[in-house]
Amino acid sequence: MNRPPAARLSVDPKDVALARDLLRESQRIVVTTHRHPDGDAIGSLLGVTVALRASQKDVTAHTPNPPPEFLRFLPGFSTITHTVAPLSTVDLALALDHSELHRTGLERELLEGRRPVIAIDHHATADRKASIAFVVPEAAATAEILEGLLPELELLITPEVATCLLTGIITDTGSFQHANTSTRVLETAARLVERGADLHAITAHIFAGRSLSALRIAGRAIERLTVNPETKMALSVLTKADLEECGVTAEDLTGVVNLLNTIPEASFSLLLTEIEEGKIKGSLRSEPEAAVDVSSIAQHFGGGGHRLASGFEVAGRLVRDETGWRVE
Ligand code: 5GP
Ligand code: MN
Repeated sequence: MNRPPAARLSVDPKDVALARDLLRESQRIVVTTHRHPDGDAIGSLLGVTVALRASQKDVTAHTPNPPPEFLRFLPGFSTITHTVAPLSTVDLALALDHSELHRTGLERELLEGRRPVIAIDHHATADRKASIAFVVPEAAATAEILEGLLPELELLITPEVATCLLTGIITDTGSFQHANTSTRVLETAARLVERGADLHAITAHIFAGRSLSALRIAGRAIERLTVNPETKMALSVLTKADLEECGVTAEDLTGVVNLLNTIPEASFSLLLTEIEEGKIKGSLRSEPEAAVDVSSIAQHFGGGGHRLASGFEVAGRLVRDETGWRVE
């Protein structure tokens, strides 16, 4: 059967023209993304960085804290830095997949730097403090927006750029398993493979097998799992002591909350992890048929994200008493 291709994502052509002019005029550019960056954050960051460098721009690729090691195979990974020159010395900043500017760790600099900021994001809760904001909540990944946008900004999708963007799409769709996988997403992925994305390298690195520490920490989370029969919330907690005893890295934690969300008794899942002394990260997941918008829960705690996957950070410690776990 011949089917017309799915409609492409649309962005405001006036914003595209403005962004194109800004990029043309700018030489020194900072590109940034959110703290605890994931595959879409780093795939988008490096896709844009590599494309801009190919256009002879002087680019600083910034993340507020170190990216996961399993993404080291991506071009430009070793050039990622966690400090930037004063923004007054650059011409333009780009914030990608960040949801809220403060999550880049550069909010004050970005807003007070008197330099234009272009935001590109697929979070429905994205703030629009940037000079130009391409916020496309129907996109499965920020990398999906970039696949259409980069050529319009006169940036070439080389095989290296395509590998970065496809990594973003594959990680943010859970390898095309999440509900955000549409024909449009699959067509975008196919175009990236056509442009030379190294699908084999991506899958080899992303599914390189789970380390012993990742299995151990997943085991602890499963052991602690409870389901509230009224709210149908699956809850588990990981303390700082758990992380230390299992010797986990940040990447060992990715996927744990998805695992909790697979049980049929639950409509949505919450994993509370004591990522630092006095700091708790909440990760929320739901399923399309459960119709629970977890981003509203995340927003209640000052976070954000998507309807089916969102998160937040709060100050506190995890303590256990006879009634179970609570945040203190
Ligand atoms: P994860 O649970 O995998 O860290 O995050 C799931 C989704 O929620 C991602 O799209 C992520 O960007 C978003 N998210 C996670 N933590 C926060 C947060 O502290 N603030 C906001 N605004 N979004 C978050
Ligand atoms: Mn994303």
